[in-house]
Amino acid sequence: MLAMVLESPGEPLRLMEIPKPVPAPGEILLRIHACAVCRTDLHIIDGDLSHPKLPLVLGHQIVGVVETTGARVTQYKQGDRVGVPWLGWTDGTCPYCRVGKENLCDHARFTGYDINGGYAEFAVADARYCFRIPKDYPDAQAAPLLCAGLIGYRAYTMAGDARRLGFYGFGNAAHILTQVARYQRREVYAFTRPGDVTTQQAARNLGVIWAGGSDEAPPEKLDAAILFAAAGELVPTALRAVGKGGVVVCAEIHMSDIPSFPYNILWDERMVRSVANLTRRDGEDFLALAPQVPVQTAVQKFPLHEANAAIAATRAGNLHGVAVLVPSTAGTRA
Ligand SMILES: [Zn+2]
Ligand SMILES: [Zn+2]
Repeated sequence: MLAMVLESPGEPLRLMEIPKPVPAPGEILLRIHACAVCRTDLHIIDGDLSHPKLPLVLGHQIVGVVETTGARVTQYKQGDRVGVPWLGWTDGTCPYCRVGKENLCDHARFTGYDINGGYAEFAVADARYCFRIPKDYPDAQAAPLLCAGLIGYRAYTMAGDARRLGFYGFGNAAHILTQVARYQRREVYAFTRPGDVTTQQAARNLGVIWAGGSDEAPPEKLDAAILFAAAGELVPTALRAVGKGGVVVCAEIHMSDIPSFPYNILWDERMVRSVANLTRRDGEDFLALAPQVPVQTAVQKFPLHEANAAIAATRAGNLHGVAVLVPSTAGTRA
């Protein structure tokens, strides 16, 4: 099969012919229809995340159709449409797994990092960590739900029942969660790069109550803020924007250093926390909610072999939607 392979960090992906994987017991073989590009993929390529399997097939927002199933797979059959997320495997026995925090598993394996992912024509995945794709979603539009959606939703739940919610970094996750927040009658405040009036207008079009630069203070104190940006200096900025008892949730897997800040902006029971990975429960909850909202995603499709162009466009931030790779062998289901 064809795959776009990362041989070493810092280098472009290479189009290669590699063996089509064979599903082990408990695994399914998927014919990939779409795989969305995530900023985490950029961090892996750049070497910001230090221990990828190499060579590696990136991609952890996979939508595909079951081609064959390994022994003991009962959840799925040939022809089922399935999504594969970042959390690819856990041991089920460590202290975190035993208390329902499988996102923190000591031995977790991640799709497109420890396990070959979706920048390819086929992939195998442990059936227990896959999800059924809601039927209303075309393949490409469903793909961004699997990371921007799922992990974004986990960050969103960490904001508790915040009524006034700030999003710093108005990219794919914020687009998805603004729709969820409006459905739940919350107020969203969108913070973009200073001067990025195009993104601020896009946020207003989605129904946020206020949009401005990250250097601006919101008109009201926020109950919570979620950082979908990798800039550590936004942590004190967001702390200054939340009121007493407010929480600042850092949703990125990698962030630049956080500058020191005066204790009084943390005082009054404000909190800073990170969110790591996802649990299967997060995925089930979000994929049940998404069609009710209904969450809509904007995507820009690229042929699989143009993965490097898709990555460059994601890095430049000049896409109108999420880059999604589509192999030429994908089915025609829209
Ligand atoms: Zn574990
Ligand atoms: Zn991701």
